[in-house]
Amino acid sequence: MERKRTVYMDHAATTPVRPEVVEAMNPYFSERFGNPSSLYALAREAKEAIEEAREAVAAAIGATPEEIYFTSGGTEADNWAIKGAALRGKGDHIVTSAIEHHAVLHTCEVLEKQGYRVTYLPVDEFGRVEPATVEEAITEKTVLVSVMAANNEIGTIQPVRAIAEVARDHKVPFHTDAVQAIGAFPVDVDEMGADLLALSAHKFGGPKGVGALYVRRGTRIGTFMDGGAQERGRRAGTENVPGIVGLGRAIELAVAGMPQSAPRLAAMRDRLIRGVLDEIPDTRLNGHPTERLPNNVNVAFRYIEGESILLMLDALGIAASTGSACTSASLEPSHVLTSCGLPPEHAHGSLRLTLGHRNTEDDVDYVLEVLPGIIERLRAISPLRGEA
Ligand SMILES: *Cc1c(COP(=O)(O)O)cnc(C)c1O
Repeated sequence: MERKRTVYMDHAATTPVRPEVVEAMNPYFSERFGNPSSLYALAREAKEAIEEAREAVAAAIGATPEEIYFTSGGTEADNWAIKGAALRGKGDHIVTSAIEHHAVLHTCEVLEKQGYRVTYLPVDEFGRVEPATVEEAITEKTVLVSVMAANNEIGTIQPVRAIAEVARDHKVPFHTDAVQAIGAFPVDVDEMGADLLALSAHKFGGPKGVGALYVRRGTRIGTFMDGGAQERGRRAGTENVPGIVGLGRAIELAVAGMPQSAPRLAAMRDRLIRGVLDEIPDTRLNGHPTERLPNNVNVAFRYIEGESILLMLDALGIAASTGSACTSASLEPSHVLTSCGLPPEHAHGSLRLTLGHRNTEDDVDYVLEVLPGIIERLRAISPLRGEA
């Protein structure tokens, strides 16, 4: 345990901005600072850069540039998709899943307070939504079905295409939060059957505070920000030009690099999972064994708190995450893990390691070297231990 190094394994939370992305963004902070709405060469340069980024985002997901709207990130894109569809829809009912990101869940909860009804679909033990449950949930009043492409905590990939088909059969628009999917597996809006799709730059090597909402042509959706005529009058506010340029470059790199990065990450993921399950007793894998993001490891250790694991990992230079609410004193287990039916004594002791393109096999070795000792020491002092 003397070795001290830095191992970042929290890429589901955010990723470092790639050097090529920083390089592409830099001129738009300084010499190319123009407001894209103005009428001179400097402004046109910025405007053109935005349109190039729009083309890059569209190409990455099989859309056309006119269907892409830039936002302040994944949260805004989810808010806009759901509130925008609710506002324009003819009914008052929304179908989503119990394991969505808070950007979706809390948005739905706000709409519930305003009189909408929301069905939160259950998931199986691996975190999958069964498409037949969507069929059962849809009513004549349903204005939107929203199910994420891949879960940020447990990495489970949803059968989005089958879910979208059910929605389409009932002429209900389908939204998917694809924030974790971009760069992890091929995302194509037609293949998926998505009418609305949210993405966020900082989850795939781009800057924070910028994302996009895909809106299929013909999808009825209200505006979200009111003000100027930016984004064809649908999302007002002077554009985050450097951020948008960074998003465009980052999505190009993420998608182009995917054939190499996805199998490399998946091999490290599987070595981590096998190592942890083999070396540490009373441990289980959270999420789906195969239908899972190539970079996601989520394991539950009985009898201990995730927070304590994080503190000990942090002391050894390892940045990771846990499913339980680490900032609140309430120690609420994660809504994702409890929805998968994980018993509380397991749900509290979950550890999420999410890999990224800078991680190496050495990093995996290091984690596998230190983790068994950490768990052993924590269990030795755990008050929960004797209960079972
Ligand atoms: C990170 C994340 C978001 C929020 O995106 P921001 O750009 O951070 O607002 C939404 N959904 C999922 C699945 C995420 O992982």
